[in-house]
Amino acid sequence: MSFSTFGLSDEIIRAVTERGYTIPTPIQAQAIPAVLSGGDLLAGAQTGTGKTAGFTLPILHRLSDKSIKGPSSGRPPIRALILVPTRELAAQVEESVRDYGKYLKLSSMMMIGGVNINPQITRLKSRVDILVATPGRLLDHVQQKTLSLSQIQILVLDEADRMLDMGFIRDIKKILALLPKQRQNLLFSATFSDEIRALADNLLNQPLLIEAARRNAIADKVTHVVHPVDRERKRELLAHLIKQHRWSQVLVFTRTKHGANKLAEFLIKSDIPALAIHGNKSQSARTQALAKFKAGDLQVLVATDIAARGIDISELPHVVNFELPNVPEDYVHRIGRTGRAGAEGDAVSLVCVDEAKLLTGIEKLIKCELTSRVVAGFEPDPQIKAEPKNNSRGGEPRSAAFSRELPTAKRPAIKTPAHLVRSTTNRAAAPRNARGRGH
Ligand code: AMP
Repeated sequence: MSFSTFGLSDEIIRAVTERGYTIPTPIQAQAIPAVLSGGDLLAGAQTGTGKTAGFTLPILHRLSDKSIKGPSSGRPPIRALILVPTRELAAQVEESVRDYGKYLKLSSMMMIGGVNINPQITRLKSRVDILVATPGRLLDHVQQKTLSLSQIQILVLDEADRMLDMGFIRDIKKILALLPKQRQNLLFSATFSDEIRALADNLLNQPLLIEAARRNAIADKVTHVVHPVDRERKRELLAHLIKQHRWSQVLVFTRTKHGANKLAEFLIKSDIPALAIHGNKSQSARTQALAKFKAGDLQVLVATDIAARGIDISELPHVVNFELPNVPEDYVHRIGRTGRAGAEGDAVSLVCVDEAKLLTGIEKLIKCELTSRVVAGFEPDPQIKAEPKNNSRGGEPRSAAFSRELPTAKRPAIKTPAHLVRSTTNRAAAPRNARGRGH
């Protein structure tokens, strides 16, 4: 299958070809015709599946094809709204819109918080066809009456599970109330919690259901390994691994902003170029760090989960969990950043005795026991017990899970088992015969 089979306009095909894509990904193969048909869509797709082009290409086609008409005179209104959870994802999605739409006469805008609102107000005075926004700032504009959503024809909720995790549900409901009833709705989510299902039930009208990544699946071709280590020696072990393996591009996750800063400082002192990104950094500092990292000019990027959401770095070879995430689903999201588009990736977790229960939770979620390998010289001290404060959150002292890991130290790192890899397509299509869009 090629992109030309969808009937997308020549301008779009040209941009896609220049980008180097030849074969649509499974999510694109399903999403593009579905969106072109004008119906609602519920898509199970995580970052790395090509979901952005999956919705962007057909939206660009529909808006430029005038299959969705704007008014015959005057400045065209905003007709497509793409809501995303984070500023980073907003930047990436809007960049994709601009890139895929570069030969079209459509105009897009990114609207995010953490930056001065005035340039956005000025920008809104000229033509915007496609708005990519985070919910908070969008509502600020609504309140200031600098934005009208009354002509929105297509709504995308991207990474909807993330938006709910981040507490955006009330904002989303407020925004939905401002949109015209007649519209096309596309909901993308990596996981399907009951909350997501409830949102989908409310929002979508006879949606087509497509799934490119299985629920809570992890990417294929990713090698997962756990290195048991004492909590006080994690920094040293990380520096050792980076130097020993000569890793040139490593994304490291920490649980806290403070932890991210401290770790970056330590790495720099160890002669490893590193920068931390998290919510306390200014948007421009985050963007700059990300750009340097993407360009290969920065060896290590240390990030908290929230700051890293939506980071899209193709073929990122190494992801390190300096600390395991509190929420097992975040492991899947973190690892989703490696082993993209068929490339091989490494997911390394440095796990101390406090994190035994978190590890068990992750293994239960991904239905896969992660291989443990003690690094010579960094053997955990059996005398060290879990900290009481961590106990309440996760680990009983030296739980069975953690002890179990140690004797298996010599096993080779495993590949993601076949039943967990991104399945190709899982067409669980809901019948869609009636095309009523009255909701
Ligand atoms: P996404 O899931 O939208 O974040 O995309 C993940 C990565 O896949 C991005 O780097 C895209 O540029 C890339 N990509 C998207 N579609 C294709 C395709 N059809 N062929 C090759 N790479 C693609």
